[in-house]
This record gives sequence, structure tokens and C-alpha cells, in this order.
Amino acid sequence: MPITIRDVRAVLTAPAGINLVVVKVETSEPGLFGLGCATFTQRAKAVVTAVAEYLRPLFVGRDAARIEDLWQTGMVHAYWRNGPVLNNALSGVDMALWDIKGKLAGMPLCDLLGGRCREAATVYRHADGREPAAVVERVRDFMAQGYRHVRVQCGGYGGQAARPAAPVGSPPGAYYDPGAYTRTVLRAFEAVREAVGDGVELLHDVHERLAPIEAVRFACDLERFRLFFLEDPLAPEDIGWFGPMRQRTATPLAMGELFNHPLEWTPLITGRLVDFVRMHLSQMGGITPARKVAAMAELHGIRTAWHGPGDVSPVGHAANLHLDLALHNFGVQEWSGFPAPLAEVFPGCPEVRQGYMYPNDRPGLGIDLDEALAGRFPPVSGVDQWTQARLPDGTAARP
Ligand code: MG
Repeated sequence: MPITIRDVRAVLTAPAGINLVVVKVETSEPGLFGLGCATFTQRAKAVVTAVAEYLRPLFVGRDAARIEDLWQTGMVHAYWRNGPVLNNALSGVDMALWDIKGKLAGMPLCDLLGGRCREAATVYRHADGREPAAVVERVRDFMAQGYRHVRVQCGGYGGQAARPAAPVGSPPGAYYDPGAYTRTVLRAFEAVREAVGDGVELLHDVHERLAPIEAVRFACDLERFRLFFLEDPLAPEDIGWFGPMRQRTATPLAMGELFNHPLEWTPLITGRLVDFVRMHLSQMGGITPARKVAAMAELHGIRTAWHGPGDVSPVGHAANLHLDLALHNFGVQEWSGFPAPLAEVFPGCPEVRQGYMYPNDRPGLGIDLDEALAGRFPPVSGVDQWTQARLPDGTAARP
């Protein structure tokens, strides 16, 4: 008798003030369930509806063992596909099915996926500050805690002085200034390298804030600071610029958190135009597509650096970690910390010590959800401000 899917539910909770969506798949086997991350924080309720109204009726009663078949069926069932809401919803089910598979095998997921290539995953933290001196202090803090990889950001993309320059009558928004941004960040890298030397790997996230030619120049200007990687130097809409950028600079390039369609990452991998793929696991549809992309990247000499900000649930971080351990071509893992209420709502969070993230030895993803406690952190509502980006002259821009 196959073990079948008895229920599929989405839980919306915000223990750290960020809306997280977690899918719980329950099975016909009493007590056997899996968890998956389906967090698209800016449209969380749309994902919850997609799970409840469309994936639950599609999947209830099916054989929980057939992950690949269920993923393929779920991906095309709406006919229109590869959008962020449906990909996140499907990811929640996909990760939960892998969690169930691991529990049935009695193995942590990384063992089920081929076994560990390393004991723990190298993580990087975010050092941010208004001024270079503040950034230097944050980098030193992280180094003192044992981190060997730190992302350097400074001055909020030049946003602190940009607003007053906007024309009278300009709408409110998250104003930023590309020119001020690049100048400030170059000064910050100068200060950090001067203060701490070469014994730490430095990263930076452009967050697609530059015009393509500005991004090419910036990548060249950063070369002397020997970055571990430069992240999202171009918007997904501008990936045709990766070729020219690659010709001009040896700064390592990382890309992918906004991608949800295979045609976005495939040419970058086969063209060897980036050094790291860093998709948001739930945005691409879960563990099933991530494994395939990682294998394709390995064949092209490209490493992984899965997206790991605060709007990935601890369930999603656990999924990242198990892939990090099982993939030979793992590069580095982004991590933004687990503030106290998060770790209580999600018992079994991975532990970070001396710059390494360690899994626990429980089967599957090794993480649980305290639903009663989750219910005490209701979702945050309101209109997001930071995604209403504008250039100094008031023009709407990508965040
Ligand atoms: Mg990023």
C-alpha cells in the first residue's frame, strides 16, 4: 500500500516581522508529515491561496513517494507556468515531499542526496553601515565570530542624500542614487581592505541598481579588492550584458535570486558567464529543480550560493543547507541569522558556529514547526515601502 498525501496546508507566520509561508504535507501514515518553504514574502497570501485552492485538490490522495512525477504534474497543471506565486506554492509541496522521503529512509536529506561532501557549509554574513568606518567595525565583528566571508554594503545604495534632489511634487518612495552608491561602496572596500587586509573574503550585492554600462565599469573598479563575488550586477532583463561584462572583468559574478524560468539561468551556465548560481530555492520551484541546475552548473565549473535572506523560512534554510552539504560544487551560503522567536517557532534550526552551518542528525530536513506558537505571530500587512524604488529625478526604478 503506498503512503498517500492526506492533506496539504500553508501556514503564514511572521515571528521576525517578515511574512513566511510554510507548507505542511500530511500523509496517510499517522504522524508522518513533511515541511516545505513557499515564502514569497511580498505576495504571501496569494501563495497561501494557490496552495489551498489549487495544489491541495490536485495532490490529495496521490502517492507521496513520487516526487518527480508530482513536481512535473504540479508545474504544468495550471497550463501557464514559471511564475513566482505558483513556483513558491509548488516548492512548498516539493520540499515537504523530500522531507517525508528522508524521514521514511531514516536519513538526513543530505545523505539521501548522495552523502556529505563536507561536514558543514561555509556561510557569509552582511556587514552594512552608513559610513565606511561603521562597515569596517561590522566586518571586524563578524571576523571575531569566526566568519571568513562577509558581504560589504554601505550607504543604502546612495539613498541617504538622493531625496532632496527630486523635482518638486515627486511621489514618495525609496529614493536612491546610483552614482553616490558606487562611489560610497568603493570607499568602503578601500577602508575595509586597509583595515583587515586580505585574510577575509569580501562580497557585494549590486541588487540590479545600476544601468548595465555602469555595472560593467563598477565590476572593473572593484577588481583590485579581489571580491569572492559580485552579486546581481545586472537585472534579469539585462542578462544579455553578461557577455560584455565577462570580457572586461575578472571580478567573479553571481546571479539568480530573481530567476524563476529555466531560460533565465540556462544561457548563463552554458555560456560560463557567471561563477555562482544563487537562486532562491522556493522561487525556482524547490529542491527538485535546484538539484538539476546544480548538476548542470557543476559540469560547467560553476558553484552554488543559494539565496539565504530573512525572507527564506528556517525550513528553506534547512533545504539550502542539505543541498550545500551534498553538492560537490557548493560555493558559499548566505545567512541572515535566526532571531530568537524564529528558532522557537521552528525547532531544529541549523546551528552556525565559527562561520560554518551544521545540520542536526534528524531525518529529512530535520526541522519542525510549532504551529501553536506560529499562530502567535500573525502576518504583517500593509504596502511594502522599500520596493517602491525611485531614481533621484523621481523616475520609478527596480528595487
Ligand atoms: Mg541579493
